Amino acid sequence: MIKKLQSLLDRIIYSERDFQERSFLFLTSTAAAALFIALIGDIVTGENPLECGALSAILLITPPVTSYAIKHNKVQLGAGIISFGVTFIVLPVAFFFGGGLTGASIVWVAFTYLYLGLTLTGVLRAVMMCILTALVIAEYTLSYLNPELVPQHSRFMWYTDSCISVLLVGLVITVMVLFQSRMFMRENKKAKDQAIEIEEMNKAQNRFFSSMSHEIRTPINTIIGLNEMILREDISDEVAEDARNIKAASNILLSLINDILDVSKMHSGKMDIVKSSYDVGVMLSEIVNMIWVKADEKGLKFSVNVDPNMPAGLYSDEVRIKQILLNILNNAVKYTNEGSVTLSINCSGTDNGRALITYTVEDTGMGIRKESIPHLFDAFRREDEKKNRYIEGTGLGLSIVKQLTDLLDGEITVSSVYTKGSVFEVRIPQEITDRRLIGKYDPEKFRGEEIRKHYHQSFEAPDARVLIVDDNNANLMVAEKLLRETRVKTETANSGEECLKMTLQTHYHAILMDHMMPGMDGIECLRAIRRQSGGLCKDTPVIVLTANAGSENKAIYRKEGFNGYILKPVEAKTLEDTLRSVLPIDLVTGLDTEKKTFDSEGFIAKTGQKIPLLVTTDSVSDLPLELLRSMNIPVLSYKVITGEGVFSDGIEAGGDDIIRYLSDKDTSAKSEAPSVEEYEEFFANLLPRCQHILHIAMAKNSSHGYANALQASSAFYNVTVIDSGHLSSGMGLVALEAVKLADSDRIDIDAFVKKLDHKKNRIKTSFIVDTTEYLYRSGRLSERIYKLCNAFLLHPVIVMKKSAMTVGSILVGERDSVCKAYIKRALRNPERIDPSVLFITYVGMKLDEVEAVKREAMKIVKFEKVYLQKASPAVSINCGPGTFGLIYSKKDY
Ligand code: ADP
Repeated sequence: MIKKLQSLLDRIIYSERDFQERSFLFLTSTAAAALFIALIGDIVTGENPLECGALSAILLITPPVTSYAIKHNKVQLGAGIISFGVTFIVLPVAFFFGGGLTGASIVWVAFTYLYLGLTLTGVLRAVMMCILTALVIAEYTLSYLNPELVPQHSRFMWYTDSCISVLLVGLVITVMVLFQSRMFMRENKKAKDQAIEIEEMNKAQNRFFSSMSHEIRTPINTIIGLNEMILREDISDEVAEDARNIKAASNILLSLINDILDVSKMHSGKMDIVKSSYDVGVMLSEIVNMIWVKADEKGLKFSVNVDPNMPAGLYSDEVRIKQILLNILNNAVKYTNEGSVTLSINCSGTDNGRALITYTVEDTGMGIRKESIPHLFDAFRREDEKKNRYIEGTGLGLSIVKQLTDLLDGEITVSSVYTKGSVFEVRIPQEITDRRLIGKYDPEKFRGEEIRKHYHQSFEAPDARVLIVDDNNANLMVAEKLLRETRVKTETANSGEECLKMTLQTHYHAILMDHMMPGMDGIECLRAIRRQSGGLCKDTPVIVLTANAGSENKAIYRKEGFNGYILKPVEAKTLEDTLRSVLPIDLVTGLDTEKKTFDSEGFIAKTGQKIPLLVTTDSVSDLPLELLRSMNIPVLSYKVITGEGVFSDGIEAGGDDIIRYLSDKDTSAKSEAPSVEEYEEFFANLLPRCQHILHIAMAKNSSHGYANALQASSAFYNVTVIDSGHLSSGMGLVALEAVKLADSDRIDIDAFVKKLDHKKNRIKTSFIVDTTEYLYRSGRLSERIYKLCNAFLLHPVIVMKKSAMTVGSILVGERDSVCKAYIKRALRNPERIDPSVLFITYVGMKLDEVEAVKREAMKIVKFEKVYLQKASPAVSINCGPGTFGLIYSKKDY
């Protein structure tokens, strides 16, 4: 008996059974025990036999009903039967035959309420409670109206019965409440323990993913890096093919790791959405560039339809939207064998500064089975496995897409006809930041350049010393080899401590630093370098090389004071660009002559972002090369056409050479602006790096450059061409002013152009021409004026008016006096001249002659910076040797 009771207790308290079931078992056993004691009391006190019979009946059915209910998992049925028996049989019998209000049945009513409340659930509980209430009211009413129906107990029976019942019910209620609260506490603790366990598991999982990503990235870094070295060598086609396959496989592995990391971040709720304003067209160009190649390889047609009413600038998480679209587009290409893939973008509901952007990707591929569609967004689920077994994939892509869309408050839907094709539609609400319309979008313009077949380094810096710090020897080897062609002098350190020893002895121009190193890590080492007493690298730029992907990590590195961030596996181009951006300019020689532009790509790599506004100009802007580089101003070359052929201005032909050639051969040459197509190509190549291009063109009435650039810009929605109103260094000064104005990250282009207009009106460009022969030869001066000038020693001063060259004045006399007179005239009203910069731009003059001009000019205005600038060939052939100009800005009032 005791054993049975013990096992019952164990079952109730410690078993893994359901909480409801254990409550039922406990409450029913306790109630039965109480009723049993009450029955004994009734028998002893000689209670009405009918009441004793009812009690016995309920006590007899309770054990089998309870055991049946528990065995068959029908707790509600068992509790219902017992409650029914008590409510309809025991309580009425006890009331009518056990003394009514002078008996104890009324105390048991209270107990029954408790039992019903704790064991029953839902509708059954509500119904039984109502019945019990109705019964109590009926009993009271009946016994009040017809007291003869309820025989009263004797005074002794009344007191005894009620005393036993109150004590029993009181005791049972106390036990029940104690039990319930203990059970609740146990359940609560269990839930808390489980929550802690789940959290620990999540943390462990994240640690695992993060370290797995780190560990896998390190060997992939070696594979990709060394493979890149193989590709750079002169190798057979077969080896090249193998190396390209290794590259493709490594990239797949890398994207797999990124997917797994994304999934783990989403599970732990750490996927951050970083919103910023972005340029819709630029984002589309990048997507188009990536998908086009893949579609082309499979022989698929890839079309893009963009709603012309689409605003040019939006505010959302550009990176995640790109990830969503690339995922769906990659799938469309992957699961389509013939036909086409179409991306359509529509814009609706552009009220209140917001718009609903709908991206639709349609393909004519294998389609998706109807029954698979509800599971399409489940992680690790791949549909139609048999058919797709040769197509690479993990089943993670669409799950990530769905969760990212949800995070961006968007929606995604799919419709598909199996074997015919699928349509994925993503709708994401976004804010509008630039209301101008995107207009007609011509994706052809944005097709990327063919990937260069042969590697060639983007710069050389043989005098630069670079220290590479990494605990992994393979990583050190890869970084050193990747930089070999740049001829920088590399040294390596295996740990933070070794790095600090080296920075005490050598000044490095840049340090590449691994983050995760045993002992002193990269961040600690950076801090130590910055405050190292006697250290020679306190101000040296330090670039972190890390396997920790993710925008949150990037922010941490920036906050710590790193000057750059390169993610492993290190890409050769990113490494070169980032390094180039931090090395001192005088140590770097650019070799990027392929595009015939001078531009420092480093800036983009340095910030990892697109430049909001990129200022570009033409080679005739006569600015020093270092200035163009340091200010990141890409330049497109004019052409110089001579009897010997056509040369690129400033690249294939220098000003002095051309002048010498012209006077030796007694011939003439022509300059020509780039064609519309050349401008288009120039803009298209630069657009992936910036959100907007502002091109500064030569005065519109002096060259076709402005008209051609303007026509080319109409093919883009984010290129603005400005008539500088000047030529030569005057035009260059406008470009410099534009760069100075463009340093904020949100640019309202209309307001910007207005400000620049104001600036350019303050710039003064003039030239004194030594001989009018060249102006005459290039058709800018009539023969009559040319002859007149020659005969009377007339020297015209050319000035810019209404975007055209005109003769501002004519000075008469010998060269020396005329030059002095020009300088005085050009710098008259010195109090109104901005003394910060003066350009002395000249053609075919000796340096001491130019220095003399500088001295004269400085006597009038103490300029802070004077550039002695040789005019470009395209300018030189129009002016002839001996020409020079003073170009400056008037003060801004
Ligand atoms: P993966 O492509 O890596 O297998 P996804 O999550 O991107 O994983 O896609 C899940 C499944 O959905 C794929 O395995 C494929 O069966 C199906 N699927 C996705 N996109 C398409 C599509 N455009 N056409 C046909 N089937 C698709």
